[in-house]
Amino acid sequence: MAASATHVATADLPANVFKLAQTTQLEALYTIIRDKNTSRGDFIFYTDRIIRLLVEEGLNHLPVIPKTIETPTGVKYEGVGFEGRICGVSILRAGEAMEAGLREVCRSVRIGKILIQRDEETAQAKLFYSKLPPDIASRYVLLLDPMLATGGSAVKAVEVLKEHGVPENRIIFINLIASPQGLSAFCQKFPQLRVVTGWIDQGLNEKAYIIPGLGDFGERRSVHHVMRGFPEA
Ligand code: URA
Repeated sequence: MAASATHVATADLPANVFKLAQTTQLEALYTIIRDKNTSRGDFIFYTDRIIRLLVEEGLNHLPVIPKTIETPTGVKYEGVGFEGRICGVSILRAGEAMEAGLREVCRSVRIGKILIQRDEETAQAKLFYSKLPPDIASRYVLLLDPMLATGGSAVKAVEVLKEHGVPENRIIFINLIASPQGLSAFCQKFPQLRVVTGWIDQGLNEKAYIIPGLGDFGERRSVHHVMRGFPEA
């Protein structure tokens, strides 16, 4: 069955969702990472390229204040500077792969981690581990998770951040691919945060994988992917 990537019209998106410009270059990058025959090395290279674009777009949502400096020519320049401090928080495990992209553009950025897993008894997303910067409540948080499927982990992660005092409007969720239903549930629950995503796909399959998607993100970056002889026919 052929499934083209959906171009969701910007007018149909919740007001707090910001999609990367759907250029042909971006579509070509997504075509590479979606392809089951793409090697692990290329998958890492091209997902890293998109992650970099996402992080750069996320930084566009940080507030700036006027800042006057003097250039080496002795002339004053009236520019702007970032107002607040930031940190990253990755939702383990897949979000960890986005940390390097954040570090590339924000030198010595603090990065926290949240591990959420499905509780087998209740089928609810459950917090297993978190390590967050102690002053996180006073920072803008770039929350990193590449695949927004049902939205359960992302919702739980935002609840954890809010419990640690982070105001919802200081959270920027950075995401590679979202399902429409996950995105809509997430944005309805947290209308004040911002979501920066690269692509909104068609939906979910019965195993809650995004379709057309790219399969298991963590698996495709993992060294075991090569050792086990993936991609399968
Ligand atoms: N996580 C993934 O790695 N892939 C999906 O499609 C959904 C969640």
